[in-house]
Amino acid sequence: MKAITFHGVGDVRATDVADPRLVDATDVLLRITTSAVCGSDLHQYHGRGGGALVQTGALMGHEFMGVVEEAGAAVRSVQVGDRVVVPFNVSCGQCDACRQRLTSQCSTTGRAVFGGRFGHLWGGGQAERIRVPFADHLCEKVPADLSDDDALFLGDILSTGYLCAENGGIRPGDSVAVFGAGPVGLLALQSAQLFGPARVFAVDRVDYRLALAEEFGAEPVSLDAGDPAERLRSLTGGRGPDVVLECVGHETPFTQAIQAVRAGGVVSSVGVYVEPSMAFPAREAFFKDLTLKMGICNARAFMTVLMPLVRRGKLRPARIVTHTLALKDAPRGYAIFDAKQDRAIKVMLKP
Ligand SMILES: [Zn+2]
Ligand SMILES: [Zn+2]
Repeated sequence: MKAITFHGVGDVRATDVADPRLVDATDVLLRITTSAVCGSDLHQYHGRGGGALVQTGALMGHEFMGVVEEAGAAVRSVQVGDRVVVPFNVSCGQCDACRQRLTSQCSTTGRAVFGGRFGHLWGGGQAERIRVPFADHLCEKVPADLSDDDALFLGDILSTGYLCAENGGIRPGDSVAVFGAGPVGLLALQSAQLFGPARVFAVDRVDYRLALAEEFGAEPVSLDAGDPAERLRSLTGGRGPDVVLECVGHETPFTQAIQAVRAGGVVSSVGVYVEPSMAFPAREAFFKDLTLKMGICNARAFMTVLMPLVRRGKLRPARIVTHTLALKDAPRGYAIFDAKQDRAIKVMLKP
């Protein structure tokens, strides 16, 4: 089959690889109908954070959905022909962490995700087919009236954006600032709107991302206009937003988020930090009495509950899709997404 494989910094290719096969009786094989390039794929693309674990030939991609083509003998909840979406974390559903719905911390799989640096062990979703283990636990059936573009993001960036908003503890009437208007930030923004904030601000540098954030009801704050923390304070009567959602994952926006939030406010962070450590403005955080929540999304726990919100149009994740490419054109998809060319926000791939 065709799959997107990693060959070095800035070098992913569509190559022919062996077809995946059922290994355990609890596996299914999916024929992938849609996959996508995620911002965290770009860390791998740049060779960041993985060190020796970034292996040549690893199968890329952890955002995918498809149709069950084969099911192991022990699989009960899905059958051949079912259309399903799968979370990005590979989890067993039965260990202590999974029983606490912390599927991102699964001890059976060692906190694995599909593809990327785990791509030799758990194939990636930027491919024609994929083996999905623990199928009864991982597969979420998708109703026929939901398009791939609306359903796919339940497995990662919509659940991540929602977690970010939920962790922010937004109350009706609050002011909320979202740092980063990329795919996760835009879906965190959509999710934040469900909690009834009076004002939402979107902080980014890229004009076309800010324009879409405005369509989602946000007031744009361009990084080109100076210190965003200062700007957000002046926009909120000198106080700062009640809640700041950090969706970038770098030291600068993280620090600015802490500087921006009002005293007693909440900073919720879901940006993927690839550096092992960074400076933390401890004194400011301490004297502000702020609450900080951060972490990788346990997407499995959110897929079932968020799907009805997507079906009823309360969340419209497909609106961030800007490009739909053939799978073989994924290298170009990575390049334009990485360089923010051609107004790219979210690149979808169709095998
Ligand atoms: Zn992702
Ligand atoms: Zn587990």
